[in-house]
Amino acid sequence: MALDASEKAQCAGIKRDGSLCSTLVKPESLYCYWHDPDKAETRKSVAASGGKASYKNRRNTEEIRDIKKEIRELIEAVREGDIDRADASVIVSAYGVLRNYLEQERKQKEQDEFGPRLDALEAARKREKEERGVPPPWAL
Ligand SMILES: [Zn+2]
Repeated sequence: MALDASEKAQCAGIKRDGSLCSTLVKPESLYCYWHDPDKAETRKSVAASGGKASYKNRRNTEEIRDIKKEIRELIEAVREGDIDRADASVIVSAYGVLRNYLEQERKQKEQDEFGPRLDALEAARKREKEERGVPPPWAL
């Protein structure tokens, strides 16, 4: 699925040192993630919150895919000198925080999903035993 270098265009952004950004972008986009003016808000909120708010309502797999992409872009940006190392370091720790939230959310989802089903199963089992007149084990 990776594009050939010949199918890519160079980002139209300018680096901090005044030189052209050398990140290759898909032909349909003018800028890379770090230079796209349309993504300024996203970049800001991702940096500020570790992405928590902007990702809140999306599915976990999508989130993970996006985050992986962002981290790759971040690595690229650091290599190219597009982003300050100190900024990158702060963003990387924010990703770490985000990872913990995602993990917590996943565990909570599991509990929300299986908790009620387990309760229903136990209730059904209890009713069955009561109907047969056999006391459930926890009633002994
Ligand atoms: Zn760029």
